[in-house]
Amino acid sequence: MDYDAIVIGSGMGGLASASVLAARGLKTLIVERNPTHGGYLASFRRGGYLFDSSIDCIAGAGPGGLITKLLDLNGAVDSVKFVPIEPVRLSIFPDFQIPVDSTTEAYEDRLKRLFPHESAGIAALIKSMERMFSAMMLVTELSQHNFLNSGGGFNSGAASEIARLQDISYGEFLRGYVNDSRLVAALSDRCPFTGLPPTGVSALTMVTLIMSYFHFGAYRAIGGTQRVADALVKGIRQKGGAAITGAAARRIILDGARAVGVVLDNGAQYQAKYIISGCDYYHTFHGLIGGEYAALAGEAIERVGVSTSFFIVYAGVSGLAGPPASSIGYFPSYDIEEIFAGGIDSTIGITVATVEDPGRAPAGGHTVVLHEMVNGEKFTIDRRRAAEIALKKTGCVLSCELSLPKLIETAIPSTLTYYTGNRAGAAFGWRQGPGYRGKIPINAIENLYMAGHWDDMGGGVLAAAHSGVRAANRILQREGLASID
Ligand SMILES: Cc1cc2nc3c(=O)[nH]c(=O)nc-3n(C[C@H](O)[C@H](O)[C@H](O)COP(=O)(O)OP(=O)(O)OC[C@H]3O[C@@H](n4cnc5c(N)ncnc54)[C@H](O)[C@@H]3O)c2cc1C
Repeated sequence: MDYDAIVIGSGMGGLASASVLAARGLKTLIVERNPTHGGYLASFRRGGYLFDSSIDCIAGAGPGGLITKLLDLNGAVDSVKFVPIEPVRLSIFPDFQIPVDSTTEAYEDRLKRLFPHESAGIAALIKSMERMFSAMMLVTELSQHNFLNSGGGFNSGAASEIARLQDISYGEFLRGYVNDSRLVAALSDRCPFTGLPPTGVSALTMVTLIMSYFHFGAYRAIGGTQRVADALVKGIRQKGGAAITGAAARRIILDGARAVGVVLDNGAQYQAKYIISGCDYYHTFHGLIGGEYAALAGEAIERVGVSTSFFIVYAGVSGLAGPPASSIGYFPSYDIEEIFAGGIDSTIGITVATVEDPGRAPAGGHTVVLHEMVNGEKFTIDRRRAAEIALKKTGCVLSCELSLPKLIETAIPSTLTYYTGNRAGAAFGWRQGPGYRGKIPINAIENLYMAGHWDDMGGGVLAAAHSGVRAANRILQREGLASID
């Protein structure tokens, strides 16, 4: 046996798994097809400006957060400095702006001040979200230690409440508490993160997403998200793990229905007791395994669908005085459903990371990254024209002129697929509609685990990390070793 575990892909999911396994002394190999590690954590430089390729902000990177714990486990906690983002988000609507505070208390007070006639509903909603989130965290913790699968530990009313949230839409959930369409719009301001309208996204996904920023903070990595990946890989190596770049897994070797090794595209072949796939689900089951599992992958994609992708514009800007926030959502209307239906102008996300991290631009400059959600499965665009429109819109929001010559780079769904292998440029793995979790066969092959946003723990960096830790803990348990919290 060459390794105890081989991890395919070094996005947050794969790195979380490898961090835990290497820290517990398992002989671990990471295989990454790109020249650099990180997947969507990648950062890049153009013309003196540093851009994060994808991510606006990361939850769980503060004291006690999972990202911090993983860095700590690797002896790398001092290698990356994170700064909290405050406000977490500024949502701009036609005639009002609403900052999302970093605590539920402050946000609840703000909402009540703006919508006094909805005070009772707001209080009940926040209370319910808090309760759901606590229950969800307990489920996540128990599933990390496999207690749920072994039938122990969790059998309360919270389980049925979570199941209910998983099966209804966020829109339906909100309607149980509030009515004012402007308030509903404000509370739906993070729906574009998932690419789904309030009536199309699972309530559980949205409650978890919103509450995780309140509970685990929203952070920016000074010097770029790439540093998180690099620090983790350095730590994994120091713990005795190995990490290869520039070599893709081409095939997962099966012995019957058991994964036993990996063949790389450079011809190298390694045997391992456990395989973890940190990459696209369809690619894993259709491309790397094939046979009867190819159909399984096709059916899962058909049944669940993939998440949104994004058109991204990366601009280096000078002369931008005092942006109102570093993470902004712009909505041309309160009718969020209609925006998603394409009947109104699109919503846009704006990240000005230089607000917290001025070192990303030459003196006095800023990096402005625009995210516009798009369907990666049917996407055609005139990039230049789309960039022009997006920059103009952003210029209005930031009260400055952002003209095309300042444009540095754009990315479309195929760019995201090219760099990460995610199907249709999916930003968050699966489409997170109501009921999606139970529909994904993730344990189809013995000794093969999924880690990352194609597992069933949701999309985003923190969810990918939780999934990676869960996969590693399952292996540790099988080896009779202590799992990590
Ligand atoms: C535009 C955009 C904005 C986002 N904003 C946020 C945000 O603000 N906050 C947040 O938390 N999340 C955000 N996300 C989502 C988040 O980035 C992802 O959910 C998360 O990073 C996924 O991590 P992962 O490990 O599952 O996969 P990935 O990051 O996709 O990593 C997969 C890795 O596997 C490698 N790989 C693929 N095939 C092979 C192979 N055959 N052999 C070897 N290696 C292979 C890839 O090269 C890649 O490195 C955003 C995503 C996008 C695209």
